[in-house]
Amino acid sequence: MNIVVCVKQVPDTAAKLQVVDSHVTWGDSPLIVNPWDEYAYEEALLLKEKHGGRAVAITMGPESAIEALKTCLAVGCDEAYLITDPVLKGSDAPATALTLAKAIQKLGEVDLVLLGKQAIDGDTGLTPAMLGRHLGWTVLTQVIKIQDLDPAARTIRVERLLEEGRQVCTARLPAVVSVIKGINEPRYPSFMGIRKASKATIPTWGVNDLGVDPGRVGAAGAFVAWPEIYMMPVKETKVEWIEGSTPQEIAAKLADKLIAEKVI
Ligand SMILES: Cc1cc2nc3c(=O)[nH]c(=O)nc-3n(C[C@H](O)[C@H](O)[C@H](O)COP(=O)(O)OP(=O)(O)OC[C@H]3O[C@@H](n4cnc5c(N)ncnc54)[C@H](O)[C@@H]3O)c2cc1C
Repeated sequence: MNIVVCVKQVPDTAAKLQVVDSHVTWGDSPLIVNPWDEYAYEEALLLKEKHGGRAVAITMGPESAIEALKTCLAVGCDEAYLITDPVLKGSDAPATALTLAKAIQKLGEVDLVLLGKQAIDGDTGLTPAMLGRHLGWTVLTQVIKIQDLDPAARTIRVERLLEEGRQVCTARLPAVVSVIKGINEPRYPSFMGIRKASKATIPTWGVNDLGVDPGRVGAAGAFVAWPEIYMMPVKETKVEWIEGSTPQEIAAKLADKLIAEKVI
């Protein structure tokens, strides 16, 4: 089984978004692997342990995104590739999906691509479906369980989480699968894994290496522009203390106020 995991480096979940001169910034917040993508790499490792083969992590991002790839290597991925190029700056989801598809094609024989269900910063959730479209492969989203994978028969059976239950789907390989929380419990990197990852060479690919038309990526190729980004107005809240000499008196006053406000 040759499995590719797409991971995105994102600001820490505790980071506070700010808008400075219409540009989004998360300040100096630490950068992490997108939390949904941890489920994707864990699933790749579990499948690799069961069926053999290799798990390869790829990311498109700035130079700093190499740290996200080192995390993937530290948990057990076999190889990692960074896709970075000044031309890619300003890429939207279609451009990201196109570039990732070209990288996957360059990797050669791939049976399965795993992604998280969404990135916690961009939040579109579009990349998996668009990637599948570029590759011409089946796309399975919202996957909470891989029930069965048969490399010989080239089939996969998964459970998708629906609003009111689960749906079992079977599909042919190769496939693009986006996973959600609950599919597994992502492992922590081991000390040995971190040491090995710190010494690893991570190849870097630019658009020329991938045969990506520069006109279709970056700000030049983006279908979507962000003309304005603004923060939600801060909600004004009022706090009122209700006083009284006994709990019964306080409760009665509270009830009167809630009735007056038509809450009860
Ligand atoms: C107009 C515009 C300008 C932008 N400019 C920039 C910019 O300058 N620099 C920048 O970094 N981003 C930029 N972005 C955001 C970036 O292109 C997004 O990462 C991309 O659109 C994917 O969308 P998303 O973040 O909503 O990911 P989603 O579709 O929500 O992600 C789903 C899954 O896809 C995979 N995935 C997503 N992105 C990547 C990635 N980059 N590498 C590997 N796997 C991935 C992950 O597994 C993730 O869990 C821009 C977006 C727009 C619309």
